[in-house]
Amino acid sequence: METMKEYAARRKKELSALASPCLRKPTLSIFQVGHDAGSDAYIKGKIKDAAEIGFLAIHRWFDETTSEGELLAAVEKDAIDEGIDGIIVQLPLPKTIDESRISKSIPLEKDVDGFIFDSPYWPCTPKGIVDYLAAAGFDFRGKNATVLGRSNIVGKPMARILLSKDMNVTVLHSKTSEDDKRFYLAHADLVVSAIGRLGYLDGRFDFKKSAYLIDVGINRGEDGKLHGDILPGRDVAYQSPVPGGVGLLTRLALMENVYEAYSRRNK
Ligand code: NAP
Repeated sequence: METMKEYAARRKKELSALASPCLRKPTLSIFQVGHDAGSDAYIKGKIKDAAEIGFLAIHRWFDETTSEGELLAAVEKDAIDEGIDGIIVQLPLPKTIDESRISKSIPLEKDVDGFIFDSPYWPCTPKGIVDYLAAAGFDFRGKNATVLGRSNIVGKPMARILLSKDMNVTVLHSKTSEDDKRFYLAHADLVVSAIGRLGYLDGRFDFKKSAYLIDVGINRGEDGKLHGDILPGRDVAYQSPVPGGVGLLTRLALMENVYEAYSRRNK
């Protein structure tokens, strides 16, 4: 089975081959207001990925004093710009700006983050995971999936997409009892953990030997390094690493969505 790193590298090369004959580069516009350490790093990664593949990523940065109206006007300009295929607004935004009002100004066909209800694109983290599992030949149909976390960007869309792949899906959250977590995790063929708790899934929880464990969590440990939600080294069919795992798939999925947006607009 290809590692997530190998898979992401292969798909990037394939996207690059698809992009090279394009009349213009598939183009992503990234809006950011102010600075946030996480956002700065994510945007740098997106610009690097786009450049490596042969896409264009335009970083539209605004200072902290930017008003909602000014940001809205700038997004609306890109919304009607024929040269822009995808638009993303990097979160968090300052509290003075209504996030939902800005995201509603992105036309569905340019919503490559897939955050808007009815977007034609899957949100990037769930998309990256499902595409990877499908490429690895994972058999979704009729199998049990247990998703930990119910956020709007990971847990909920993950559950919805796995359901669309004919899995039996259970979503666990902070109000789920530990006994129930043990039960549902022990029965899962696929576990997706997106809770943001370092090593929360430890020896208290048993998994099937045939289970696939997908770790979305990114947690900074006392050692200063990044760790997942699941303690490494479980005796299962597959356990994804952190770092070098789902983060790479998320980045890749954004580029896949940008290419899809370009293709839809240039049929
Ligand atoms: P979030 O919005 O904070 O949501 C966390 C979810 O986990 C909530 O639904 C919460 O339940 C649940 N939860 C918290 N503690 C729990 C526990 N002990 N048992 C069961 N459920 C628990 O987080 P998020 O944005 O979804 O991100 C989750 C993690 O994934 C973070 O570490 C984040 O950094 C990482 N992440 C990684 C990527 C990537 O590309 N690798 C992408 C996105 C996010 P309630 O709803 O009951 O509060």
